[in-house]
Amino acid sequence: MIPLRPLRTSTPTSLRVLIVGGVAGGASCAARLRRLDETCEIVLLDRGAYVSFANCGLPYFVGNVIADEKNLLVASADLFRDRFRIEVRTGTEAVAIDRARQVLTIRDVASGATREESYDSLVLAPGASPVRPALPGIELDGVFAVRSIPDTRRIRAWIDDRDARRAVVIGGGFIGLEMAENLAHRGLDITVLEKLEQVMPPLDPEMAAPVAEHLRSKGVTLVLGDGLARIEARGGGFAVVTEAGVTLEADLVILAIGVRPESALARDAGLKIGPRGGIVVDARMQTDDPHIWAVGDAIEVHDVITGQEVVLPLAGPANRQGRIAAESIAGRETGFRGIQATAVVGVMGMTAASTGASEKGLRRAGVTNFEKVYLHPGHHAGYYPGAKPIHLKLLFSVPDGRVLGAQAVGLEGVAKRIDVIAAAVQFGGTVHDLAEAELCYAPQYGAAKDPVNLAGMIAANVLNGDMPLADWEAIGHDATVVLDVREPGEFSAGAIPGAINIPLSELRSRFGELTARGSFDVCCGVGQRAYYAVRFLRQNGIDARTLSGGYATWKMRKAAGL
Ligand SMILES: Cc1cc2nc3c(=O)[nH]c(=O)nc-3n(C[C@H](O)[C@H](O)[C@H](O)COP(=O)(O)OP(=O)(O)OC[C@H]3O[C@@H](n4cnc5c(N)ncnc54)[C@H](O)[C@@H]3O)c2cc1C
Repeated sequence: MIPLRPLRTSTPTSLRVLIVGGVAGGASCAARLRRLDETCEIVLLDRGAYVSFANCGLPYFVGNVIADEKNLLVASADLFRDRFRIEVRTGTEAVAIDRARQVLTIRDVASGATREESYDSLVLAPGASPVRPALPGIELDGVFAVRSIPDTRRIRAWIDDRDARRAVVIGGGFIGLEMAENLAHRGLDITVLEKLEQVMPPLDPEMAAPVAEHLRSKGVTLVLGDGLARIEARGGGFAVVTEAGVTLEADLVILAIGVRPESALARDAGLKIGPRGGIVVDARMQTDDPHIWAVGDAIEVHDVITGQEVVLPLAGPANRQGRIAAESIAGRETGFRGIQATAVVGVMGMTAASTGASEKGLRRAGVTNFEKVYLHPGHHAGYYPGAKPIHLKLLFSVPDGRVLGAQAVGLEGVAKRIDVIAAAVQFGGTVHDLAEAELCYAPQYGAAKDPVNLAGMIAANVLNGDMPLADWEAIGHDATVVLDVREPGEFSAGAIPGAINIPLSELRSRFGELTARGSFDVCCGVGQRAYYAVRFLRQNGIDARTLSGGYATWKMRKAAGL
């Protein structure tokens, strides 16, 4: 990140501000700037046909959930002109920046004609473009990326004109899964091909396992751990051939294997580009040129958890950065605090959400002083009908208990819990803050001990030594005995191989059976009874630890191949 320059103390009036890219970051910047400065001239350029459209709604337009294309248009060029005196030029591409002369060369997309526009301040908000690997067949008609309204129009027309029945979605991340859901909604058979062994790469594998299971239960075919090799046109459709040699038949192919920052314009102008390919900015969104700002998917941002510079293509940060760039141009003290990667996806009725770092992200960043707990509470009080489990994983630093990240998966109440934890992360909160958080409760919404409170309490029990954690990875690799304290009926329906079973209710009377057997990793259904057992055993001199999240966690780990 670039160090901050001194803030301009007086703001020149009648600045000419050009903004390249008129969607999340660019449009936010333009509107905010007008609210702060009536004198400046603001020109919003986009090479596409629209500004301020809802990229995040695009999959749902393909799926006909959003039936009217007009609903994707958040604000029109007329609205920008009439309400904010912002000039919008669509079909206009920025092609070069002459920094010495403070001039931007723009090209009319329709005619190809170029001309120059001068600026006092230039904001780059060009977003990110879908990755298209140079593989055979990738440019065939019928292989679609999803970035713009015209893209979605083409996909809809392709489905309708050819009566498409089968789609292969390449990439099992947010956009891939949203496209899978929406194409299934249109009645297509869906195969998702994902190079990793899991869907939803931002999640840890065991947390992604319920999503995969849910997709399969809804009829989606998942091909995991295999990548795209080539696409061949075949019989009016496509043969998608994987690296492992599997052939997947399709009538259309969606490419959703990620995006990369659109930083070529900045790079060609000699602006600083970071190792992840994004434009480097300071906390006020200013590049290494004091007349140029950059925001959104095109920039690198500071990850407040890992301390690394990353790219994070999400709408929330892009919008906030647009505002900050406007404030900075207007001479206001402002600053972007960095990102913590809070994200959510809904897939066929299931929600997966996360904030902060994942376990694999922490390990990649070299962070070792952390612990993790799992829990599987109902999304509201169990006594009220219809409670659905939330699978929740909380990562926190040891010994100070700072919350580092959380992931949750379930059918109900997932986003609310992750949003609460996200706010705690933002304020530097600890697991003790989660335990103490005063959250709303009525039976149909939560519990007197909300899942967020429970996560904090469990983690606090770990930190204060009441509930030492067993190492899930060590099961079967050391001499420790797995003690399952569920009832015999539950145990016989499925248990960790090699586990012995003494129900919690018999533990005191059968205590003598344990004294000679060394140390124990204690398991139950979701972790609660194991905790009670561990408290009893440890207070009676037995070395016992809890397998966090119990058999439910074990099943998720097995499903993820761990
Ligand atoms: C299908 C889809 C679903 C998504 N769903 C979600 C979601 O649910 N939640 C979420 O947080 N995020 C989601 N995102 C990501 C989110 O849309 C982006 O992070 C956000 O839009 C980035 O804002 P931006 O301003 O940086 O870029 P964009 O919104 O992409 O806007 C960039 C604009 O700049 C224009 N442009 C580029 N280069 C030039 C140039 N040289 N000259 C002129 N114009 C140029 C482009 O045409 C584009 O219109 C989704 C994205 C897609 C594609």
